[in-house]
Amino acid sequence: MTIELSDVVREYRVGGQRVRALDGVNLHIDGGNFVSVVGPSGAGKSTFLHLLGALDSPDSGSIKFGGREIANLGDDEQSEFRRHKVGFIFQFFNLLPTMSAWENVAVPKLVDGQPLKKAKPDALRLLGLVGLADRAEHRPSELSGGQMQRVAVARALMMDPPLILADEPTGNLDSKTGTAIMELLADVAHERGTSRAVVMVTHNLEAAAATDRVITLQDGKIESDEYSSARS
Ligand code: ADP
Ligand code: ADP
Repeated sequence: MTIELSDVVREYRVGGQRVRALDGVNLHIDGGNFVSVVGPSGAGKSTFLHLLGALDSPDSGSIKFGGREIANLGDDEQSEFRRHKVGFIFQFFNLLPTMSAWENVAVPKLVDGQPLKKAKPDALRLLGLVGLADRAEHRPSELSGGQMQRVAVARALMMDPPLILADEPTGNLDSKTGTAIMELLADVAHERGTSRAVVMVTHNLEAAAATDRVITLQDGKIESDEYSSARS
């Protein structure tokens, strides 16, 4: 699975001013890669993540996802695309407090119109994958931050999407727990037999350094794009 951005521009009008949040971005992202996006506040990182996740559309340019143009999808098509092609991971986990861990993992199936119970075997398998087989019936309030983020990673995998988007996934974790989550996300990107990309926005340069590729944005442009030599 390959994502290809060509001349992507996203502009906001603030008062009489026009702000280019993304200013002509050209980029290729291949499956099997763990990519981080860094840069100062206001550089365009969130805008970039939202465009990749079809939460927003560019003003001009092309975003091809596995060959399919997603820059101009209608609302229903965007929603359908998000549900099946993208898993989202957030800084504050976004788990539903009244649901157990396995039910939280199964939520994307519920959103897709399927009964929660039917998704239980898959949810339990994914909890095993993230090392939480013994926490399936626990509520989020009974889990540590690192465990909650593991549940969120399992949830992001529920629909087996080719793209995982993570917004500051270590931002609310201590550094040791954050490192473990980074290792888990690397495993998710490198899983054999899949062609999945993980794209993470972060302020944490130590976390970024553990990824395969670091893209630095500045004023809506790609300032640098570096592959780690330590990894393949
Ligand atoms: P980052 O995530 O790197 O902090 P953003 O993508 O949030 O950057 O923002 C990039 C630029 O676009 C900033 O100048 C920001 O103020 C502007 N911007 C982002 N979202 C909006 C919005 N909804 N309305 C107006 N301006 C916005
Ligand atoms: P639908 O349109 O089918 O009701 P949504 O657009 O609410 O679905 O959400 C589809 C997917 O996009 C969900 O997995 C949700 O977590 C994610 N999502 C929705 N809004 C945001 C957002 N502001 N930031 C990141 N992810 C979002």
